[in-house]
Amino acid sequence: MSSYCFGIDVGGTSVKCGLFKTDGTLVEKWEIPTRRENNGDKILPDVGDTINNKIKERNLDKKDIAGVGIGIPGPVNGKGEVERAVNLYWGFKAVSKEIEEYTGLPAKAGNDANVAALGEAWKGAAAGAQNVILVTLGTGVGGGIIVDGKIVAGEHGAGGEIGHAMVLRGEKEKCNCGNHGCLEQYASATGIVRVAGRKLAETDEDSVLRSLSNITAKDVLDAFKAGDKVAIDIMEYVGDLLGGALSGFAAVVDPEAIVIGGGVSKAGQPLIDCIQKYYREYAFPSCKNTRMLIATLGNDAGIYGAAKMVL
Ligand code: ZN
Repeated sequence: MSSYCFGIDVGGTSVKCGLFKTDGTLVEKWEIPTRRENNGDKILPDVGDTINNKIKERNLDKKDIAGVGIGIPGPVNGKGEVERAVNLYWGFKAVSKEIEEYTGLPAKAGNDANVAALGEAWKGAAAGAQNVILVTLGTGVGGGIIVDGKIVAGEHGAGGEIGHAMVLRGEKEKCNCGNHGCLEQYASATGIVRVAGRKLAETDEDSVLRSLSNITAKDVLDAFKAGDKVAIDIMEYVGDLLGGALSGFAAVVDPEAIVIGGGVSKAGQPLIDCIQKYYREYAFPSCKNTRMLIATLGNDAGIYGAAKMVL
């Protein structure tokens, strides 16, 4: 049996790399820059080089390495291929195949949010769970769905695109994906700011938010936790949409746990309480008591999940 595996998480500015024991112990982690010039054609060769160098440096035997898992910021199909990854300036890439060629090791590629979900299900907030929904509330809303311990990638690699579930009819503004009324338009950091703008315009109620020239999601969340009435209104609205969307996903997946990650999740338990209140109202009776947890691996979720893919 192999003793080691690699977990790689490709981001827009840096590639996070991890060498793991197959039991999930992180032996070492390091980063290399993401070279996006020339349509990012150096990114995968760089990943191959850093893996080969690490194997040499540590005197590892390739027979002792289960493989390389790699998370990519874009849709990845079941064959480990990417049609397009805008953040990396990529067109089509057969990611798994290329990494196998560079390293001589088995390789598996997945979407970064899906991979992060697998990481949280393996060693993070939902450690040991086989069925998990992860929703990442950051600049956008990402997501990943784990069923029977495996990522649901789907036919186009779009499995787990929770942020683009339609949650509000009649929205006039456009989502980044081109549609209208996506969850991301309300529950991402930018979405929360947008909702704040609308709520503040709707009421003349006093709020600490009014004194700020440039409201951020953190301002809204801080005011929410401090008991500001308008901020509570904003987050109740967001919690309602998010709790509703998650109840829909839970009706499909019936997960052991729902994990909330990303920068917005730093708001902690008050945020969970606000989402859970609505989730419990809408969820199918068997799913009402599903655990809702804050992600614990932070930026390392990607390397953990990537490593897990090849085990
Ligand atoms: Zn969308």
